[in-house]
Amino acid sequence: MTPAPLAAARVRADELDRAVDVAFRRDRFLLPAGTVYLDGNSLGPLPAAVPPVVADVVTRQWGQGLVASWNAEDWWHAPERVGARIAPLVGAATDEVVVADSTSVNLFAMLVAATRLRPGRRTLLVEQAAFPTDGYIAASVARLLGLHLRPVDLDCLTAAVQGSAGRDVAAVLASQVDYRTGRAYDVAQVTRLAHDAGALAVWDLSHSAGAMPVDVDAHGVDLAVGCGYKYLGGGPGAPSYVVVARAHQGALDPPLTGWHGHARPFAMAPAYEPALGVSRVRVGTPPILSLLALEAALTVFDGLDIRAVRSRSLSLTSLFCDLADEHLAGAGFTMLTPRAPDGRGSQVALRHPAAYGVVRALGERGVVADFREPDIVRLGFGPLYLTHADVVTAVEQLAAVAAHREFDDPRWTVRATVT
Ligand SMILES: *Cc1c(COP(=O)(O)O)cnc(C)c1O
Repeated sequence: MTPAPLAAARVRADELDRAVDVAFRRDRFLLPAGTVYLDGNSLGPLPAAVPPVVADVVTRQWGQGLVASWNAEDWWHAPERVGARIAPLVGAATDEVVVADSTSVNLFAMLVAATRLRPGRRTLLVEQAAFPTDGYIAASVARLLGLHLRPVDLDCLTAAVQGSAGRDVAAVLASQVDYRTGRAYDVAQVTRLAHDAGALAVWDLSHSAGAMPVDVDAHGVDLAVGCGYKYLGGGPGAPSYVVVARAHQGALDPPLTGWHGHARPFAMAPAYEPALGVSRVRVGTPPILSLLALEAALTVFDGLDIRAVRSRSLSLTSLFCDLADEHLAGAGFTMLTPRAPDGRGSQVALRHPAAYGVVRALGERGVVADFREPDIVRLGFGPLYLTHADVVTAVEQLAAVAAHREFDDPRWTVRATVT
C-alpha cells in the first residue's frame, strides 16, 4: 500500500511502535476504526471510561438518587475534586485548581481579578497572536474597567514592560502554546518578565495541559485557565479549569460573586462572603453531567508522568516534521511550527495555498485535521492514542491529496460552519 518513498519510514515507525511506551494508552480510547485522528487538540477523542460513568450519572445518580445525589454522590464538591485531578498535570497543588464554567468566562473572571490585585495599574498586556476569545474578552475587560489594552509580541516583552510603561501593567495574558502555529513559549521567562515589572502573569493553558508539562508552581504563575475538552478529553463543552496560586487565594476578588463561591452557601445569607481558597472562583451550579464526564476522562492520566507524555508527543511530532521536509515541502506545503522540540507544543501547522481544501480532502481519506485562517492545515498529535505508523499514514495521505490536487474539488468552495 505504502508508496516506495515512504516504505522506509513505515519500517522505522513500526520499530518505534514496537517499543514499550508507558504513555501509549490507545486501548483507553474509543476511536473509530480506520481513522487517524489529528484533531484531539480541538476535541479530544472519547475515553472508554466516560460512557459508563455518564450512563450511571444519568440513570442512577440523577434518575434514582434525585436531589439527594448532591450529598450522596458529593456533586457539590465535584469542581474541587476534578480540579485536584488536573492539578498534577499542570504542576499545581491540589487546592489550587477548580473546574467551572467555560474558558472564555474564566478568562474574564481572572483578568478582572488580576486587575483588582494590582490596583492603580491601568494597562493589560495581551499576546498579540492570542486565540481570538482571549483578545475579545481582554478588550471587554479593558473597556469595562477603563484600562489600556496593549497587544504585545511576547518576543518583545522585555521592552514592553520596561520603565514607566511597565509600572502601569497590571497583568500579562499569554498562551503557553500558540493555537495556530503550535509554537511553545517559555512560561518561566514570560512570568519572570511580568513579575519584574510588578505585574501578574495570567496563562491560558488550553493548548498545552495534558500534552506537555506546565509547572505553574515552579514558575510562579499567578493565575491560569485552560480548556477541558482538548487534550484533557472531557467531551464537547466540557467545563474549563482555573488555577489560582496559593499566594493570591486570600485576596482574590473575582467579579462573578455567585452563591457557589460563597463561604457558606446554604446559610443563604444576604451578604456575599467569599469561600476560602480557590472555591471562591465558583459562580453558579456547575454542569454536573459534563463535569463528571471530565472526571472520568481524566482517569486516562492515572499513574502517568506528564514528562513521559511529552516524550511521546515529541517523538511523534519530530517524525512528522522530518517526513514533511522530505515528502511534503515539494508539494506546496510550508512548515510554520518551530523545528526545535522545545519550541513547539503537540501540534504541527503547515501552510498551503488551498489549506481548506487540503483539510477536507484529507478527511475523506480518513485523516482528520482542521483548518485555521488564513492558510493553515493544523495537525494535533494526541500522544496517548496516536502511533508513529499513524504519522506516516498522515504524511502519505497529505502527499496523495497534493499529488491528485484533491484540494481543488468544487465541494470545498463552500466552507462548513466549523472548520
Ligand atoms: C480552545 C480555547 C479556548 C476555548 O474557549 P471556550 O470558552 O471553551 O470556547 C480559549 N482559549 C484558547 C487559547 C483555546 O485554545
